[in-house]
Amino acid sequence: MNDYISQAEEALLHTYNRYQIVLEKGEGVYLYDTEGKRYLDFAAGIAVCSLGYGHSKFTDCLKNQIDTLTHTSNLFYSKPVAKAAQSLKKATQMDRVFFTNSGTEAIEGALKAARKYAYTKGSGKYEFIAMNHSFHGRSMGAVSVTGNEHYRTPFEPLIAGVKFAEFNDIESVKAQITDKTCAIIMEPVQGEGGIYPADQAFLKQVRELCDVHDILLIFDEIQCGMGRTGSLFAWQGYGVKPDIMAMAKAIGNGVPVGAFAMTEQVAEYSLVPGDHGTTYGGNPLVCAAVDTVLQIVEEERILERVQEVSAYLEEKLDNLVKTNEAVTERRGMGLMQGLVLNKPVGDVIKKAMEQGLIVISASGNVLRLVPPLVIEKKHVDEMIEKLNEALGDSFPCGACITQ
Ligand SMILES: *Cc1c(COP(=O)(O)O)cnc(C)c1O
Repeated sequence: MNDYISQAEEALLHTYNRYQIVLEKGEGVYLYDTEGKRYLDFAAGIAVCSLGYGHSKFTDCLKNQIDTLTHTSNLFYSKPVAKAAQSLKKATQMDRVFFTNSGTEAIEGALKAARKYAYTKGSGKYEFIAMNHSFHGRSMGAVSVTGNEHYRTPFEPLIAGVKFAEFNDIESVKAQITDKTCAIIMEPVQGEGGIYPADQAFLKQVRELCDVHDILLIFDEIQCGMGRTGSLFAWQGYGVKPDIMAMAKAIGNGVPVGAFAMTEQVAEYSLVPGDHGTTYGGNPLVCAAVDTVLQIVEEERILERVQEVSAYLEEKLDNLVKTNEAVTERRGMGLMQGLVLNKPVGDVIKKAMEQGLIVISASGNVLRLVPPLVIEKKHVDEMIEKLNEALGDSFPCGACITQ
């Protein structure tokens, strides 16, 4: 195991502090390292591997597509792109989709689409309002709208005209609106920034502001989308529809694919041939994956399963807040949950790994739980047991009853 770690470290640019584990294979909701140690996976490769590992319908589809055709460029049509575009259009309730290779590129495309819309309309608008604590990716455009100075400052000057408002504070958003505001961008449930779900009223009011001022509403559903919150896309649960949305992570269940989508009203004034492109984006391999993931989500009633198991998970986590001194708060929606800890989250994560549980962190000393969407109640029980061990110092059981 150490051999692989030193080989990787010797050649890779040091941009990640990796956990000292070399993962070798996955099966269902478990991962195995090169020593054969088994881990219950509550990270899913950062909210990506929603169907778990080795889902045979999914892997068969990839194998078939690899044997048939993996890449064509966007100068041609392919069967998978036709199917995936139709199924994603239906799933998102949008009218037009564009496939990208990552979440960052989906955001980049969404920002360009919004700027182009304003440009075509001749409105002179170009400003974006983004949220504090947001995360939208690492390209110069995506990082420009990311509400974390630590990620932005070393790369300035970034794109012009970005303002930040407080998430879930409508007055703060209003205060940033000018006659130059072109779009407002936010995650319906903030992920990286610490797992903060939007308030229903806040999203509704933002939508109203956008309608009044001809501002486009962009939702970043990269982490909270594709069933994670119990709705296919988080906005569908809130009942607040964006004009443009960005997706990635779970839409490919591990193959690198993202997408941005928009309504016809936006598309009419937005990107046309020559404005935007990608060589790999939407190739037959990734499109076969997207189409199959959507089929499986429907066939296996993943949304209902998420709703059921997440209610159980929330109950268990709330109990942990009551019974374990180290856990001060739970926030989240569906299978996207965060626990605020009062001891260093990094230490807890390492201890959890020793116990055979993979969890990750989010900003603000938050332990982030984004398991595969196919987990069952028994996996929740196993996770809680291991997490309790990792947290240590739980109250004796008598104390929890009197609380
Ligand atoms: C992960 C993430 C991104 C960036 O996606 P990449 O595929 O890493 O480029 C953007 N927005 C949100 C909300 C994310 O969670």
